[in-house]
Amino acid sequence: MAAFIPQTDLIYIQNFAQEKLAENEQFKDLLRETDAESIDSMVQSLDAMITPTIDCTSCGNCCKSLMVCLNEQEANALSTHLNQSREEFDATYLEKGSNGLMIMNKMPCHFLTNNRCTIYEYRFEGCKEFPALHLPNFKRRVFTTFMHYDRCPIIFNVVEQLKEKMEFEPS
Ligand code: SF4
Ligand code: SF4
Repeated sequence: MAAFIPQTDLIYIQNFAQEKLAENEQFKDLLRETDAESIDSMVQSLDAMITPTIDCTSCGNCCKSLMVCLNEQEANALSTHLNQSREEFDATYLEKGSNGLMIMNKMPCHFLTNNRCTIYEYRFEGCKEFPALHLPNFKRRVFTTFMHYDRCPIIFNVVEQLKEKMEFEPS
């Protein structure tokens, strides 16, 4: 079998996503109608095949364009690593909502340099999980996955291969 060559051109992906808006709505409906276990199995096997073919350090688009949330434990660990008090860390890096939600106050993320995470060992749970295709219950994340379809080449390629695997034909 020929080696899989992923599409990683973000401009191409964004234009393609615009053209495929209606098609993707139909595909989301098909996913919602399909058995959860078989979708998880297909998505996880495509993720395992495709992720190693994509170099995230050539992309970094999630770290450039997503709102990053963190929790108290993560903020404590990172501020200690950076030799900062929590007050100093919070004032420099965070914005806080009245509901206790803490987010990075800058996009691209403060800690991204040359497409690499400079605090990799201390990155946040959301950073570790993204794009979350290895996790069970893909059907519960159809909406959020497609939110990132035009931003993340891993998601884009997995979804396009999934369409082929499921023999999806848009009407
Ligand atoms: S903490 Fe690291 S992995 Fe997370 S968004 Fe920032 S640069 Fe990316
Ligand atoms: S996870 Fe997706 S958006 Fe983030 S760097 Fe990798 S390919 Fe790019």
